[in-house]
Amino acid sequence: MDFAIEFRRYRLPFRQPVVTARGTWTVREGVFIRLSAADGFVGYGEAAPVPHFGRDSVDRYEEACRALGGRIQSPEQVPASLASLRGAIASAMRRGEPNPRHRSLAIAALLPAGRAALKVAAEKAEAGYRVFKWKVGVGAADDELAIMDDILGGLPGGSRLRLDANRAWPRRTAERWLSAASERPVEFVEEPVSDEGDFKDLLLGLSRDYPVPLGLDESISSDADVADWLGRGWKGFFVIKTALFGDVDAALELLRVAQARVVFSSALETALGARDALLLAFSWAGRAYALGYGAGPLFVDSRFDAIPPAPLLRHEDASRISKEPLWNAVT
Ligand code: MG
Repeated sequence: MDFAIEFRRYRLPFRQPVVTARGTWTVREGVFIRLSAADGFVGYGEAAPVPHFGRDSVDRYEEACRALGGRIQSPEQVPASLASLRGAIASAMRRGEPNPRHRSLAIAALLPAGRAALKVAAEKAEAGYRVFKWKVGVGAADDELAIMDDILGGLPGGSRLRLDANRAWPRRTAERWLSAASERPVEFVEEPVSDEGDFKDLLLGLSRDYPVPLGLDESISSDADVADWLGRGWKGFFVIKTALFGDVDAALELLRVAQARVVFSSALETALGARDALLLAFSWAGRAYALGYGAGPLFVDSRFDAIPPAPLLRHEDASRISKEPLWNAVT
């Protein structure tokens, strides 16, 4: 099938800078694409790379779009290294929508780093959230371990906490945390150790040594990564930032066959890309874990925010997101 392709680059300031163990992020940059076919079909996609996966890639995306010269037949016409762009093109080419298997999905509330988490946790619990995600590895471990207990002490019964260290911890620090987390209602610990040496062996070893499950996030950005970790016997969670994958269907098929535990998660993309990502989450046949879409509202320009800030997302909340006005809002 032959499509005409157009692209528009966007630059959207976040309402609040996004602070992680890797630094501060203030502006979301990405590329919207629009495909149209001779039969009247129109499809949209969003390529939204995350800075620490390669800071200049939005420029490379723009170059790759320009190099297509206005026509495209297959996502494979852009280099595999531009994964999010390939994924955006594949999304835009998709006709029809995946069949929903869930009517609503829980959202995990994102808590800010440090002691600020306490106030937000209380507010989110009051609003009905029962799964919480907290970024750790930003401050000193002793302080954060104490704050974790203060957070947990204030949550309603049955709540679960996810921890995300974004690879900030040296091994010994990770071991302290995993030991503490194993005795607390921690759902999983995401990317606990720094990416050095025998990183994969270390992570696999830690996943066997502690009862608390571990989660992969930065470690998986392609179906090849998913295949590699499954092949190594990874039993923990797979946090899938759908928007970053070149071929997310292939990745999800591997995970489905392996009956893996999958958490669908935002790459802080706009509503245009989030619509596709969320509809895939609603169609997931495995157990539904709370979505990693609790960071919003994200943007100063609220038209680009995906979903209502509520503890449950209904299928219709995702399916009624309209892509065309978002495309039109970028010039
Ligand atoms: Mg993460």
